[in-house]
Amino acid sequence: MGTDRKVCSRCRRCESFFYRPYSGEVLCKKCFLGTIEGKVRATIGKYKMFSFKDRIAVAVSGGKDSLSLLQILSKIEKKHSTASLVAIIVDEGIRGYRDEAIEIATNACKKLDIEHQVTYFKKLYGVTLEEIVERMRQTPKTRLSPCAYCGVLRRRALNVAALKVGANKIATGHTLDDETQTILLNIFHGDVPGIAREKPVTEVVHPRLVQRVKPFCEIPERETALYAYVKKIKFQSVPCPYSSEALRNDMRLMLNRVEEKHPGTKFTVFRSIEKIRSALEVCGKKEGFKECRECGEPASLDLCKTCQMLKQVNS
Ligand code: SF4
Ligand SMILES: [Zn+2]
Ligand SMILES: [Zn+2]
Repeated sequence: MGTDRKVCSRCRRCESFFYRPYSGEVLCKKCFLGTIEGKVRATIGKYKMFSFKDRIAVAVSGGKDSLSLLQILSKIEKKHSTASLVAIIVDEGIRGYRDEAIEIATNACKKLDIEHQVTYFKKLYGVTLEEIVERMRQTPKTRLSPCAYCGVLRRRALNVAALKVGANKIATGHTLDDETQTILLNIFHGDVPGIAREKPVTEVVHPRLVQRVKPFCEIPERETALYAYVKKIKFQSVPCPYSSEALRNDMRLMLNRVEEKHPGTKFTVFRSIEKIRSALEVCGKKEGFKECRECGEPASLDLCKTCQMLKQVNS
């Protein structure tokens, strides 16, 4: 990848195959894999993501990020036999897309000998995402994208499934790219407290809201993809049919364009927010968590977002 047969900057022996623009390093395959796994371990330590007795639910979508994360965490878990892993796969019900992803995710779990659970929107909410999209398209007043529904409902589905399997942590494959996109999205939505909330380890705000951690938050997506490729991890490469409709997609394109011209920009955005997060938390209204009056799940409002959306969908 653009290295002209240079020798690896780390081991100084092997031929490099990858150029890391933001650090100037050129790396061989072995050293590249080592830096990714080392970075994950360092991130886990830096943010104190796990403790020895954790039961960790890994959110697995069948994409490169979550499957690479599952592989790395399973390697780490083997060294800490008191911790355990379980994979949670959410089926939103997106025909021609999710079926293949579930098959890939399930096979990966079997290969790694990791217990897995599939949880379905249809069973949990009585509707699939596709049915929601169809209904909402008949309602001209709705301005929310399919991803807005998917995001809220999947977050709840993951939490419910994690509690069911007795997990006390949910690990997701969010990368540095996802994190910086989320920061910009929150700015574009005018949701400043949202920037403070979305941190590498969420706060425990309610005993039934499982803490979420993001061990890939300081790894660019390009590198998680390369990790999966070098490790020959089979993942779903076809994008979700709704992804192009999301504002997130525009943020991705914009950030990638800037990163290409100015390597390291994504890290700069991420670190700037780390520095001012405590100030952002002060701007946010501190809402106490209670239980939703309809479903009884933890919520910051009387009627949780999930119930609000389902009401709208079913009306
Ligand atoms: S792209 Fe949007 S609709 Fe598709 S799985 Fe992701 S969040 Fe859900
Ligand atoms: Zn090397
Ligand atoms: Zn509710």
